Amino acid sequence: MPTELSELGEFELIKELTGDVELTNVSTIKGIGDDAAVIAAGNDAMVVTNDLLVEGIHFDLMYTPLKHLGYKSVVVNLSDVYAMNAIPEQITVGIALSSKFSVEAVNQLYDGIKLACKLYGVDLVGGDTTSSLTGLMISVTAIGRAPFDKVTYRNGAKENNLICVSGDLGGAYLGVQILEREKRVFKENLGAQPKLDDYTYVVGRQLKPEARKDVVEKLNELGVQPTAMIDISDGLSSELLHICTQSKVGCRVYEDKIPVNKETENVAGELNIHSLTAALNGGEDYELLFTINMNDYDKIKDVEGITVIGHITNESEGYNLINNQGMPIKLKSMGWKNFNE
Ligand code: ADP
Ligand code: MG
Repeated sequence: MPTELSELGEFELIKELTGDVELTNVSTIKGIGDDAAVIAAGNDAMVVTNDLLVEGIHFDLMYTPLKHLGYKSVVVNLSDVYAMNAIPEQITVGIALSSKFSVEAVNQLYDGIKLACKLYGVDLVGGDTTSSLTGLMISVTAIGRAPFDKVTYRNGAKENNLICVSGDLGGAYLGVQILEREKRVFKENLGAQPKLDDYTYVVGRQLKPEARKDVVEKLNELGVQPTAMIDISDGLSSELLHICTQSKVGCRVYEDKIPVNKETENVAGELNIHSLTAALNGGEDYELLFTINMNDYDKIKDVEGITVIGHITNESEGYNLINNQGMPIKLKSMGWKNFNE
């Protein structure tokens, strides 16, 4: 009997496919397993990452404007470059198009791609264009650069390091719940116009995310070198577990410290979803999760948009979230499992 893809999930499948890959070039510093690969390029390290977005899986064109989609497809890749503490410099873009798309529509997609390039200071240097039988696919590769000693991996967290997160969490997940709800209303009521005025923050978080260039620049300016870093694309829980398992450490984070925006909180209440669940297991916030040496606390404590949510412990203590009742809850990885959807 062949094994169904859904039996493995995304992470196990990557392991199954790539577990026996050997690195043969001395210039390959880091292969599979981090936010980006790291390659020796003269005096600097070059980082490379790729993400693929597929219509119907990662985006729904019923409520995603093409310009926003183009912008987001660049930003999600730049986020992985920043997560290595590197600065993105180039991207390439591959697209597969079905005949339902007009030239004007594809131009809108590229307006978004070009806008992201302009705002983040990145050059579009190549790609590929082909046809598809159904729908749109966008594959972006981002290339960045950093001095070798600045590159930050997932595996450098040490006991007693502080765990920090940028921005706030859970908004993007609630944004997509609202968009899905309005889509159902639209379909059931023959074109009733969506009411999104009360949801601008969460919908914005979903449709037009930003990569935290500013945070990487700020840390650099403050002379703070994170010991480990990852971007939050799959929810805090899953990303924290990546840092902990790869660093061979445990963690203790606190529910009351996890940053959640006021509108996110309100929308969670309205939808009967615990905002903590959205922060831990929702995805696509594209914030940075990083660990720092305790001695650096004074440098970051007053920085707006950086929150200390807990600390790194010995591996034997496991992965713990202390809830508002003071009870420890074991963190579990609940990354997106597209094959099950
Ligand atoms: P992220 O969420 O940061 O984009 P992923 O979870 O997608 O990272 O990927 C984890 C690691 O596995 C990365 O190093 C990525 O480059 C690698 N990877 C993912 N898919 C494949 C694949 N099909 N072949 C080789 N490497 C892959
Ligand atoms: Mg990542």
